[in-house]
Amino acid sequence: MEMDTIAAISTPMGEGAIAIVRISGDEAVNIADLIYQGKKSLKEVETHTINYGYIVDPETNDKIEEVMVSVLLAPKTFTKENIIEINCHGGIISVNRILQLIISHGARLAEPGEFTKRAFLNGRIDLSQAEGVIDLIRAKTDRAMNVAMSQLEGKLSKRIQKSRQDLLETVAHVEVNIDYPEYDAEEMTLALLKEKAHDVKADIENLLQTAQQGKILRDGLSTVIIGRPNVGKSSLLNNLVHDNKAIVTEIAGTTRDVIEEYVNVRGVPLRLLDTAGIRETDDVVEKIGVERSRKVVGDAELVLLVLNYNEELTESDEELFHISKGKERIIIINKTDLERKINMERVKQLANEAPIVSTSLIKDEGVDELEEAIKVLFFQGDIETTDLTYVSNTRHITLLQEALRSVSEALEAIDAGLPIDMIQIDITKTWELLGEVIGESVHESLIDQLFSQFCLGK
Ligand code: GDP
Ligand code: ZN
Repeated sequence: MEMDTIAAISTPMGEGAIAIVRISGDEAVNIADLIYQGKKSLKEVETHTINYGYIVDPETNDKIEEVMVSVLLAPKTFTKENIIEINCHGGIISVNRILQLIISHGARLAEPGEFTKRAFLNGRIDLSQAEGVIDLIRAKTDRAMNVAMSQLEGKLSKRIQKSRQDLLETVAHVEVNIDYPEYDAEEMTLALLKEKAHDVKADIENLLQTAQQGKILRDGLSTVIIGRPNVGKSSLLNNLVHDNKAIVTEIAGTTRDVIEEYVNVRGVPLRLLDTAGIRETDDVVEKIGVERSRKVVGDAELVLLVLNYNEELTESDEELFHISKGKERIIIINKTDLERKINMERVKQLANEAPIVSTSLIKDEGVDELEEAIKVLFFQGDIETTDLTYVSNTRHITLLQEALRSVSEALEAIDAGLPIDMIQIDITKTWELLGEVIGESVHESLIDQLFSQFCLGK
């Protein structure tokens, strides 16, 4: 495959951080050598070495930066091409100058995800592994990172490949049967087909069972806090954010900047949407009212409904129970340090099955119980013990669901005594669908779309 040489800054930029400029392609070493001065030419050093030197503009002879340059020759590299990595001290200006120099000496600026795309196109990783890289970049918790890592390492791929291999073997058997009908093995072939189809079905079901948790780990659980003014919503948000590692991101493309805060609650990444304007003045919260809460609740996967222990339930409280019905929710009774005025019997009635947690946020009490309730609600406490082959990606889930349907149809066809070549159609289809998960029969455009989700330089 003919591919040009690409370059990009492959670390997030920030003050003082170490930045890496990465080059990949046939000309990587030659281009880097043109702008490098060290003890030896980069063309003469051994592969997989780190070399100390300077980046110098060959036109002006200006020393731009003191650097460490890794030389990694094909094929034992991430892209299976020659790779140069230039480590510099950061500083946006000098990193950019180095990148500019590389580009003016023959490399092209890489598109987002292009390094990983090359790894895929050069057969270094399969598609589900490449998607693992995307997830790794986006992972918000250690566990999500582990899941992405395991996908990157090919655990999901291996399971899928095993199922495909099983199906292929049965198809081979069927072929023999069709070609040599006199070789009377139909009984045996059917039995084998049934057994293998069963195994494959069970494995797909197992994988799909991890999907709900997998998706939460990957995407976070969109969570809203609702409650009347002054019950303690802001206090709760602050408490969760301060207790846990929070990553604040802004949702692009919205007119009003909606702030998202990711907090890692015992391995559950909560995506706290401050659409209710909790961070703003309580004035605004007052104006938001029940109508707005209804809208906010609509998009959420988890609702934290806060009530005041020190006040009687109001009509608004009842209304908030009503609009969050049918959602996963946790009822929080706050201000337990004050005198009880709330009717707990009525709260229990309204809460139905939802867990009720008492807190005194001002005294930092009850937050542990709340966090435990969140974890139990989503992971039933068993997440630690299961292995990390989670299916977390919507594309995979959809394909696996289709594969499950077609393997089930094959099993039904066997039981109904349909001709063996009919059964084979379903088996072949299952095999193809599983192949799509690992990218063995996907369209070019799908691939382009997938890789464009990467950050630049990955
Ligand atoms: P929000 O309007 O729902 O966002 O409520 P805030 O979090 O802004 O809290 C309203 C007021 O209640 C503030 O003065 C808080 O300090 C106070 N508050 C919050 N939690 C507690 C609590 O557990 N006990 C008591 N006594 N006061 C609290
Ligand atoms: Zn507030």
